[in-house]
Amino acid sequence: MTAKPGDRVKVITKDEIKEGILMPNEETDSIIIKLDNGYNIGIDNKKAKEIKVIEKYKAKETTSKKEIKKDNKKPTISILHTGGTIASKVDYESGGVVASFSDEDFVNMFPEVKKIANIKSILVSNMMSEDMRFFHYKKMSDSIVKAIKDKVDGIIIGHGTDTLALTAAALSFVFENLPIPVILVGSQRSTDRGSTDAGVNLICAAEFIIKTDFIGVGICMHENTSDNSCLILPATKTKKLHTSRRDAFKAVNDKAIARVNYETKKIEFLKKYEKKSKEKLIIRDKFEDKVAIIKSYPNMFPDLIDTLTQKGYKGVVLEGTGIGLMPTNIKENKMNLDAIKKFMDSGGIAVITSNCIFGRVHKDIYSGTRLLKNIGVISGQDMLTETAFIKLAWLLGNFKKEEAKELMTKNLKGEINERLLGDEFLD
Ligand code: GLU
Repeated sequence: MTAKPGDRVKVITKDEIKEGILMPNEETDSIIIKLDNGYNIGIDNKKAKEIKVIEKYKAKETTSKKEIKKDNKKPTISILHTGGTIASKVDYESGGVVASFSDEDFVNMFPEVKKIANIKSILVSNMMSEDMRFFHYKKMSDSIVKAIKDKVDGIIIGHGTDTLALTAAALSFVFENLPIPVILVGSQRSTDRGSTDAGVNLICAAEFIIKTDFIGVGICMHENTSDNSCLILPATKTKKLHTSRRDAFKAVNDKAIARVNYETKKIEFLKKYEKKSKEKLIIRDKFEDKVAIIKSYPNMFPDLIDTLTQKGYKGVVLEGTGIGLMPTNIKENKMNLDAIKKFMDSGGIAVITSNCIFGRVHKDIYSGTRLLKNIGVISGQDMLTETAFIKLAWLLGNFKKEEAKELMTKNLKGEINERLLGDEFLD
């Protein structure tokens, strides 16, 4: 009997036997099972000698088949699913996997959403966000354009948390004069756990969409470890700072845009925000593939940068140390400076950011920063490394090289502050 997702199985390898629910998995080289303690484990396909079906998945007839009627008095929100843990769960009663991508499944899973808006549930992809490629950004932006044409009032994108902030930055660069809000939502705890944050994040995003005149791209995640409130965070200035906490997402060198109180459903704006403009929607949805990030580290050799030069890379973000330094000062490290120069002489653009996360890089403080500036490395100012990477790939995808270089130094979507006040830090 071939095992199907949702079946209870025993996976037998040379060293062990693992029992659990077989999970849906797009990859063919691994088997993922959900253990009874709720955790997912991956087993190398080659190591599995046998997959024994203990119990077949029995689809449960639930009320989820009931069609949901549109309430014309309510606004409509499109939910674009891209995957991650936010909108799928294992139904422990039946032991099966519930793919919750239909309008009905989604509303049954988060019934509170129905009270706020009509829901149009759209499956864009079902993947882990670390697997995102630039063509997935294009799929998402196409779905956004379609939803705008369908005259929805706002869009929620369900996304894995690992690269959620990078997608937010990418979509923010793609669209100019977006006429509706697009809010990315993830969850740190899967929806099949009592402690899941998915519902609160989704409800807060929906409340924010229907109650405010905010337009553009934002992120909605827990403000702290309790379920009291969520923050709407800026698309180009947010980073996942913790592997598992519900309040992992923090604004960096910036403030949150708004707070949504989950209990009272009140919204409090914390800074100025983008409002609807009469200008035409502009879409620039190309991204250059040949862009990379290289981190600075002690005892660095120029090999990685040389590889980028040899492979014809067009851009690199150098994540330097402190105020934007690379190992270039002593004679043993001159080779690193030479490699960066060679990369740029062969046509590449190099941008420097900082591994400090908060603060900005400075061009003229140490001789090391001056060395980089003198060979033409662009200052990433107070941009996050990830945002600088997305911006550089986007600029090289849509503009000529000289224009891309110029725009890299300009604030386009809130990614650069002219100056920092000093209070933009974790309190
Ligand atoms: N690595 C997964 C992702 O980012 C984790 C699951 C999640 O955060 O939703 O997609």
